[in-house]
Amino acid sequence: MRDYLKFYIDGQWVDPVTPKTAEVINPATEAVSGHISLGSTADVDKAVAAARRAFETWSVTSVQERIDLLQSILAEYERRERELGEAVTEEMGAPLALGCGFHTLLGKGHIGTALEVLKNFKFEETHGPSIIRKEPIGVCGLITPWNWPMNQTCVKIAPALATGCTMILKPPQLAPYSAHILAEILHDAGTPAGVFNMVQGQGSVIGTHLSTHPDVDMISFTGSEPVGVQITKDAAETVKRVGLELGGKSAWIVLDDASMAANVAGATAGMMGNSGQTCSAGSRLLVPASRMDEAIAAATEAANGVTVGDPAGNFAMGPVVSKSQYNIIQDYIQKGIDEGAQLIAGGLGLPEGIDKGWFVRPTVFVGNNQMVIARQEIFGPVLVVIGYNDIDDAVAIANDSTFGLGGYVSGEDLDLARDVSRRMRTGAIWVNGGFDFNAPFGGYKRSGNGREWGEHGFTEYLEIKAIIGANPA
Ligand code: NAD
Repeated sequence: MRDYLKFYIDGQWVDPVTPKTAEVINPATEAVSGHISLGSTADVDKAVAAARRAFETWSVTSVQERIDLLQSILAEYERRERELGEAVTEEMGAPLALGCGFHTLLGKGHIGTALEVLKNFKFEETHGPSIIRKEPIGVCGLITPWNWPMNQTCVKIAPALATGCTMILKPPQLAPYSAHILAEILHDAGTPAGVFNMVQGQGSVIGTHLSTHPDVDMISFTGSEPVGVQITKDAAETVKRVGLELGGKSAWIVLDDASMAANVAGATAGMMGNSGQTCSAGSRLLVPASRMDEAIAAATEAANGVTVGDPAGNFAMGPVVSKSQYNIIQDYIQKGIDEGAQLIAGGLGLPEGIDKGWFVRPTVFVGNNQMVIARQEIFGPVLVVIGYNDIDDAVAIANDSTFGLGGYVSGEDLDLARDVSRRMRTGAIWVNGGFDFNAPFGGYKRSGNGREWGEHGFTEYLEIKAIIGANPA
């Protein structure tokens, strides 16, 4: 049982101003795995005041001081990496190999990348008669989701620290354990008091108070579209910057010259990874209509081959995060059936042999792009295969979405794959499975307005100042 009842404010673990607790449920067992405190606006006020005080000194530290801190955080993170992975598995149900693998690796990668970017980042440059400076924006509210907890958290904390900002982290209520351990890591690594603060609790209380707070200069939010809209409205009164990383309904285009079986199988297995709870998941698989039979055979076999079970065991897929998420996904599967999509794998209810936990069957439909299951973000292991007639049709279907977060193109002809990628209205596209910690990540359209990862991630936390005439010819 994990009871993480204190908040981290001004360099100390402190009790909430008004004690109030909530249970944390293990999604694989439905049992209570621990408790957290639910903070109040008074806790947020204390954290913001600490961050404001610390900004005076942290914002003027040397680059070397910040490099030293990030190095120390990285070492401490590596020391406790296994523990972090186990916490991720317990809180949101990722199989242990994934929790202790890609989940924690992503967090570590963002800290290491921020460290490397910082070593060469130009905070001041001359331009004609002017000096152009990049200065830390100030006190930042960091609001994160539960689906890739270490990725989402470290991708904000590392550049915020590197650029000289101070911060208050509001972790997801459903997945609070790894954030608590991360706060211990930051403390043990020697983060100065007030630079990093953490208050757990409800989005509608902690998140709203951060968004409306006059002493918070910026909100970096990763989560759902409706909450992103609400935060933008809440932040408007105080004209603070809001970085939004929202949902997606990303298209994966398999070009005609690609190996159909291998790519469809890869895309299907990829969709089921992390139980389909990935913002940039390729949830619409676009294949040449003339080769639909091949695609159906490959997708069915791949989905049926995804093993589902206890995250501590040797299974490819664990549960989804909560009962409410399970119910939402079941409703979408029913919707797909009702709107006439062809169910080729999975379907309603628990996977065979499982009678407890929020496990969903890896599900694949063949449908069209007007169906609800092809338009709305399901955030579960549900794939929709859609046929296209030619390249123009594939691009048109891919772009016919209110979202624009990710995209995937598989094909042998790289010139064609690049051309198709250029025509897709989306923030990040992976061609034949690339990966890059330095490439910017963020959305077009309703997938948000922010860009995280690597050097681009720094700019979210920086103001630009022009000092004109300071560099006379
Ligand atoms: P969510 O929007 O429900 O919650 C995200 C965070 O916002 C949580 O910490 C929550 O407590 C907080 N929150 C809730 N209401 C709030 C309010 N009114 N004001 C301020 N904060 C509030 O999202 P979720 O269910 O945790 O995560 C799933 C969503 O996140 C999906 O839509 C997914 O696509 C998206 N996501 C996007 C990215 C990206 O990088 N674009 C990455 C991961 C997840």
